[in-house]
Amino acid sequence: MSASLAGTDTPLSTAELAGQTAPRITTEVPGPVARSVIERDERFTSPSLTRVYPLVVARGAGAVLEDVDGNRFLDFNAGIAVNAAGHAHPAVTEAITAQAERCLHYCSSDFYHPVYAELCERLSASAPMPGARTFLANSGTEAVEAALKLARYHTRRPNVIAFYGGFHGRSLGSLSLTSSKAKYRSGFGIVTPGSYHAPYAYDGEVTGAEYIETVLFQRMTEPSDVAAVFVEPIQGEGGYIVPPAGWLAELRALCDAHGILLVADEVQSGVGRTGRMWACEHDGVVPDMITAGKGLASGLPLAALIARGDLMQWTAGKHGSTFGGNPVACAAALATLDLVERELSANAARVGDHILAGLRALSDHQPLISGVRGRGLMIGFDLTDHDTAEAVEQACFERGLLVLTCGQRSIRIAPPLVVNTDQADTALAIVADACEAVAAGLR
Ligand code: PLP
Repeated sequence: MSASLAGTDTPLSTAELAGQTAPRITTEVPGPVARSVIERDERFTSPSLTRVYPLVVARGAGAVLEDVDGNRFLDFNAGIAVNAAGHAHPAVTEAITAQAERCLHYCSSDFYHPVYAELCERLSASAPMPGARTFLANSGTEAVEAALKLARYHTRRPNVIAFYGGFHGRSLGSLSLTSSKAKYRSGFGIVTPGSYHAPYAYDGEVTGAEYIETVLFQRMTEPSDVAAVFVEPIQGEGGYIVPPAGWLAELRALCDAHGILLVADEVQSGVGRTGRMWACEHDGVVPDMITAGKGLASGLPLAALIARGDLMQWTAGKHGSTFGGNPVACAAALATLDLVERELSANAARVGDHILAGLRALSDHQPLISGVRGRGLMIGFDLTDHDTAEAVEQACFERGLLVLTCGQRSIRIAPPLVVNTDQADTALAIVADACEAVAAGLR
């Protein structure tokens, strides 16, 4: 069978698909077409890829995805917090098409594009740092690499500090900061030397600034050797952990006391997902740099390093990228920012509160669920253990709901920011049903 969209009835239009509030599973999953794709994929792709369940995507609209067998899913992971404006948002698609017709690519590091300048202006203005400037890259890890380079260049200090459980990327510099799973590092030898880690909020008695001051600065590195502290304002891959009030502000104070730069890695938490443009705004903390990616261009590869104006003063040739700030991706990002600022960030706050309330109510009578937390549409909850979290993730998939695990034993809810309360209610009912099924299997 060819890997085209199967299904017997008339396909829904994009608008109709986006309006669906419930999944529709009509084959076993994976279905026959999906199985043929998976079989080909497994023969020719890098075995390093971690496919969590056998979803083979054909198309999407809003917060709804269809697989190649015509099964319909509610997308509550958005390709890991990426499709901010949802799948196939008409305004984003139109912006992409118009820019593609004008110019697909012409290296933005060497020449000028109106959309590159406009997007950098918009991102710089959106950030809380005074006089910010922006560098555009292709992926989160590249934005983090740029931040690492700028921090060292500006301070002329060698060391950096990040947090256990953090995820900052997989290239060798960002991998030195990543510490969410040992498998990401093992087998690759030495990552960038001079990278130290402290416990994130709730990860022990002494965490954050206090740990850095009392342990790292005493035993591992003098503060005068530290260029930057990298922190996710809400830890993503590590478990969707929201630090308590004041925790980030203490890091800011520590950095100020020692001339260290504070980098907020907002690749997952940024661009409206938490109900504000940047998650660090919830705590009133102004970092020195922000890294962004994922949702920025609603699915096209684009990332950004936004830095204080007086900090981003490296000279020509110090950093650049062939594809970074590709004009089509910039056009998608400008359309995404319009939507986020106009309506999606507010929608994330509103629907996020609705989901949080629903999950809290569910946790009152479902003993498998505890620790419901989150901001906007960055929501996590704990299951009793790792295997149970994976079993619930799979049970949701079989019922037509796409969610992902994170941390040791958590599930994250990170739908496109266009999701509505009807879709959220269906998702909550599926989570409840999936937990029931998993609990029954455990009994
Ligand atoms: N930083 C954070 C906080 C992330 O969540 C991720 C990806 O999950 C990255 C950096 C790396 O982004 P990318 O996979 O686009 O390189």
